Amino acid sequence: MSNQEVEVLIVGAGQAGIAMSEHLGAKDIPHLVLERDRVAERWRSWRWDSLVANGPAWHDRFPGQEFDTDPDGFPTKEEVADYLVSYADRIDAPIRTGVDVTSVRKINGKPGFRVDTSEGTIDARYVVAATGAFQKPIIPPVVPETAGLHQIHSSGYHNPQQLPDGAVLVVGAGSSGVQIADELRQAGRRVYLAVGPHDRPPRSYRGRDFCWWLGVLGKWDLAAPPLGAEHVTIAVSGAHGGHTVDFRELAGTGVTLTGLAGPFVDGVMHFADDLRTNIDNGDANYLSMLDEADAYVIRNGLDLPEEPQAREFLPDPDCLSNPLRELDLDAAGVTSIIWATGFAFDYGWLQVDAFDERGKPVHQRGVSTEPGIYFLGLPWQSRRGSSFIWGVWHDAKYLADQIAIQRGYLTYDAPALAER
Ligand SMILES: Cc1cc2nc3c(=O)[nH]c(=O)nc-3n(C[C@H](O)[C@H](O)[C@H](O)COP(=O)(O)OP(=O)(O)OC[C@H]3O[C@@H](n4cnc5c(N)ncnc54)[C@H](O)[C@@H]3O)c2cc1C
Repeated sequence: MSNQEVEVLIVGAGQAGIAMSEHLGAKDIPHLVLERDRVAERWRSWRWDSLVANGPAWHDRFPGQEFDTDPDGFPTKEEVADYLVSYADRIDAPIRTGVDVTSVRKINGKPGFRVDTSEGTIDARYVVAATGAFQKPIIPPVVPETAGLHQIHSSGYHNPQQLPDGAVLVVGAGSSGVQIADELRQAGRRVYLAVGPHDRPPRSYRGRDFCWWLGVLGKWDLAAPPLGAEHVTIAVSGAHGGHTVDFRELAGTGVTLTGLAGPFVDGVMHFADDLRTNIDNGDANYLSMLDEADAYVIRNGLDLPEEPQAREFLPDPDCLSNPLRELDLDAAGVTSIIWATGFAFDYGWLQVDAFDERGKPVHQRGVSTEPGIYFLGLPWQSRRGSSFIWGVWHDAKYLADQIAIQRGYLTYDAPALAER
């Protein structure tokens, strides 16, 4: 592959890279996709075994292809990966797997970028970083490695059998944390779940899935998170055929809910006094969505069955009325901590002028501050749906347009102007 030249180089063959390839292909723009692992690898090896999509098959997909499964069901992670592989095959995406991109630098005095890879060097006129929003697992520095606990990130969790015997502390109650805590409890583990700020939309309401409600209410299209809600995670689940995340119900199965975890001192984990606030805010978010849905039904005269029972909550469990503020992990038999605490960016390979002082991409809808460099798959890249399967496809379309516009400038025939 040494000294090869390509017009557009796409780095990463997850859903973002595949969507980008589709839109560039539709415009006949020559391109190449490089992937260090396999196509859609993250869906195969960075997710736990029992994971299913958070949205139903009719929704969590690209517009051009349906899943071969029940449209109202929740595809398994392998089915999602298989779907993306078959999609890439169908559009004949020019993907090379097993090639790691190690650096991208501007070529001085010439348009384009020099791209070093594990298989040689490529010069590319444009580069799309489609390496995902979930690149580097974050484990906050709360419990030292010397504490003798088995600590893993949710992306390294596969099943209960991989953990040493004993109780488990799961930190973080977004979609990953709640589902992992539930699975461990069902497997007979004693489980503590540290619950931070979250939204927990109803799985379904008045016969429609929340994905539908968020769509018709315009919430997938929000351009930025509501003020103050930048760090609020969304707790949803397609497990067990799909159900509303209900922390009281989870506590009823034996999971002990706590506030945010930390600090950890002399073997004792301290928990913030914020469990009640976090649960109350999650409830308020849940109820506000029911209110908005009801208002939408009335305004549009829809015939959807009423569901007053959706507003009934289970009684507060003891762990919510009298929250645990500290736990001696050894005495409680806790042998593992699973950090479901999210991901950070990792653009060490992209050595261009497109990042702020904290290493975050500087861009507008994916068009970076370094002309010729584009980002795809970022959270809130253009809207709330951007990092999800259905959202990234639309962002990729926009970027293909932008690349086509830039190519148009380069082919502009200046001498023709001089002749006038
Ligand atoms: C637990 C979990 C559950 C999710 N569930 C859903 C869901 O149900 N529905 C939904 O719509 N979204 C879901 N998402 C969000 C999102 O759809 C996925 O994270 C998805 O994998 C993002 O796709 P991507 O293409 O942007 O990035 P990725 O899938 O992460 O793909 C990026 C690719 O880039 C490759 N790469 C990275 N660096 C380099 C390099 N330097 N050189 C070469 N290759 C490189 C990686 O190997 C990887 O294959 C979920 C996310 C998580 C974490």
